[in-house]
Formats: sequence, structure tokens, C-alpha cells
Amino acid sequence: MLERTLVLLKPDTVQRGFMGRIISRFEDAGLKTVGAKMVWMDTDFGKKHYFDVAQRRGEAVLKRLLKMMTQGPVLALCLEGVHAVEIVRKMVGNTEPKSALPGTIRGDFAHVSYAYADSKDIGIKNLIHASGNVEEAKQEVALWFKKEELHSYKSVHDLHILE
Ligand code: ADP
Repeated sequence: MLERTLVLLKPDTVQRGFMGRIISRFEDAGLKTVGAKMVWMDTDFGKKHYFDVAQRRGEAVLKRLLKMMTQGPVLALCLEGVHAVEIVRKMVGNTEPKSALPGTIRGDFAHVSYAYADSKDIGIKNLIHASGNVEEAKQEVALWFKKEELHSYKSVHDLHILE
């Protein structure tokens, strides 16, 4: 049940100065950061990470998304916790900020719609990426982090949340 999941704080989060506030939400929930690094990805790497987006959402969306994701650095995090993949997705909220509920990261820090982003020919700035399921999380963590960049250590959560 203990899982690891990939989170990317997207360029809009980094540039708006919300990294700390978003990380705090995960820390407050008792999730453990086991990997963290800032990366300015290029289009080739972006295509590896978003390998299925063109098929699911179309080439135009992938193009806008890659432009948005390569316009500045992201903060890549690997978070660990019980059912971490599902819990983090719940905290992140719906892909479209307009539909994301208050209390979720995308609902609290953004509000735009697909229609708006599409009319401007831009990627939807929804602050954060989180792995969609356990299988995807394994692939994404392996894509973003080398083994030696992931750390096992004791935290107070082990005592107060996991025991
Ligand atoms: P999620 O990030 O919630 O898992 P997807 O993997 O389907 O969602 O899409 C990847 C990213 O592509 C989204 O987070 C969003 O930034 C962007 N995106 C998705 N659909 C659109 C769209 N119609 N217009 C602009 N950007 C989009």
C-alpha cells in the first residue's frame, strides 16, 4: 500500500511563487518527499513524459502543452505515502481548473477553462502534474529520477501517521 508518485510543479507554479504553498499541502497530509529537483526540460524529454497525450487529447493539445512545459523550469518531486498515487490526484483535482473543486490545488490556485485555453492556443495552466495510476507512477518516477536521487529516511510521519 506504500506507494511513490511523481509530482511536477509546472512552470506557472514556479513563476507564481507557489512551490512552498503546494509542497506544504503534501507535507500537511503526511506525505514524505523522497526526491526533489529542478529541471528545465526540452521538447524531446517532454514527449517522453507526455507520450500518450497526443493520442488521448490530440496533437494540437500536445503542442501547446509542450510549449508551456518548456518555457521555464519545473520542480520534480517524488512523494511517498499510503495510496500516495490516488491521494495526490485527489489533492490535485480536475485537469480543468474551472471544474476543479475548491480545496484542490487546481481549484484553489487557478480558474480557467479548456475553452479559454483553446481559444488562445495555449496549454491550460493548471499548476501541477501528478501520476494518474500506480503503473504510470512507476514509469514516471523511473523516467525522472535515478535510483540514487531517491532517498529512504525516517520522518515524524512514520511515527505519527504510519504506526
Ligand atoms: P492531467 O494532467 O490531469 O493528467 P492530461 O494528462 O490529460 O491531464 O493532460 C496533460 C496536460 O495537458 C494537462 O494537465 C493540461 O495542462 C494540458 N491540457 C489538457 N487538455 C488541454 C486542452 N484542451 N487545452 C489546453 N491544455 C490542455
